[in-house]
Amino acid sequence: MEKVDVIVVGGGLAGLSAAYGLAAEGLEVILIERGDYSGAKNVTGGRLYVSPIRNMYPELWEDAPFERPVTREFITLMGEGNSTTIEFAADKFAAQPYQSYTVLRATFDLWLSEQVMEKGGMVIVKQRVDDLIKEGDKVIGIRAGEDEIGADITIIAEGVLGLVANKAGLRELPSWKDHAVGFKETLELPKEVIDNRWHLAPDEGAAHLFMGGVTKGMLGGGFLYTNKESISLGIVLGMKDAKERVDKIDIYTLLDDFKANPTIAPLVADGELVEYSAHVISEAGLSGIPQLWGDGYLMTGDAAGLALNQLYTVRGMDFAVASGYYAAQAIIEGKKQNDLDAVGPAYEKMMKESWVLKDFETAKNILHFIENPRIFSHYPNAVGRLFDRVFTLNDQPTDSIYTKVMSSVKKDFMNVTTAKELLGMRKI
Ligand SMILES: Cc1cc2nc3c(=O)[nH]c(=O)nc-3n(C[C@H](O)[C@H](O)[C@H](O)COP(=O)(O)OP(=O)(O)OC[C@H]3O[C@@H](n4cnc5c(N)ncnc54)[C@H](O)[C@@H]3O)c2cc1C
Repeated sequence: MEKVDVIVVGGGLAGLSAAYGLAAEGLEVILIERGDYSGAKNVTGGRLYVSPIRNMYPELWEDAPFERPVTREFITLMGEGNSTTIEFAADKFAAQPYQSYTVLRATFDLWLSEQVMEKGGMVIVKQRVDDLIKEGDKVIGIRAGEDEIGADITIIAEGVLGLVANKAGLRELPSWKDHAVGFKETLELPKEVIDNRWHLAPDEGAAHLFMGGVTKGMLGGGFLYTNKESISLGIVLGMKDAKERVDKIDIYTLLDDFKANPTIAPLVADGELVEYSAHVISEAGLSGIPQLWGDGYLMTGDAAGLALNQLYTVRGMDFAVASGYYAAQAIIEGKKQNDLDAVGPAYEKMMKESWVLKDFETAKNILHFIENPRIFSHYPNAVGRLFDRVFTLNDQPTDSIYTKVMSSVKKDFMNVTTAKELLGMRKI
């Protein structure tokens, strides 16, 4: 059997990041991707936080094909018959180095795969890895169709479903209940139209999140990211809520209803649909992370459960790049020391000591918190009711601002349930 230093299963951001780091150090690495090219099968909302990963591969981000730096944040609470939007802009977000960028994976992952090849890594596309080859408990390579390739270490970067790892008995199949399904449309719009609709200076970008009516009160939310000449618009919906809802709303209807909402319709008007995609995303947080390594293998990215829904943002791409980077560093060190047994523990240590697993630890109770339906129904409606009261005038004498605000606050926020929920927020 042909043998190389490292085989990477899957050419998303986790696999590509690992392969890049390894190839840059001259290790013999083969990455196998089942899609027509890296990026072809990858779905994301669209915002990559670069600040956490900037120092990992500093040379990469200068020329990366980002869409727009995110300089403006919008959060819209969609109530019944109303919506409340917070727009946030800070000078530091509009200055270099930018904290985060919108990306389109078909472009971004393809570019990263080219960087891997430039460093001497081999990227094989249109090829599915069928099995991991094991000798006892040790993973010693992969089988893809008729071909078998051996490796000192196999990096599993196959994404959220983890089918190959599961088949080899390395991890349980993740429970559907801890997952969300995301579906997204890419709509083309002229650059200037995008700038005007989100109050952007040329080449600046916006991240716009939606809660409440967008998911009809179910766990999840809507997202809208501005690209150079398109917008990425979609919904992430908790599978448990989606399945258990008696009215069984069709997902397709949800996205159509979202686009038809009076708040959203003017934002997406005249957008030409150029892509539709859907994908699963882990919502399990820390509890969804399996054993990160075993004899002969390391787990990275979504395959290792590294995605986090923090309500105001969804993260996974930065974790994918970081886990790939640490996997590469651990292998490089193990090779230098001629001690491959040290690779797994070293990888886990790096992950634990870095922001990666610390961020998961910090957010470990988030799933429990967001399982509360009031977050997606009561609060968006309550905020809407408050502003409705404030802004409404009729032919009767009007109440003072204080009375208007306090009557709403007393009714919707000053109660034991809200107090408990506020206390619960300490844990997220
Ligand atoms: C709707 C949605 C919105 C999101 N929004 C954001 C966001 O705004 N910001 C953010 O940071 N994260 C976001 N995420 C999460 C983020 O997209 C993922 O965490 C990230 O893509 C994980 O990268 P990965 O490389 O681990 O997995 P993937 O990108 O899924 O890559 C896995 C690769 O492995 C390949 N593969 C699978 N099986 C095999 C096999 N047997 N053989 C060969 N190849 C195989 C696949 O084709 C794929 O290319 C979002 C996710 C979704 C679904």
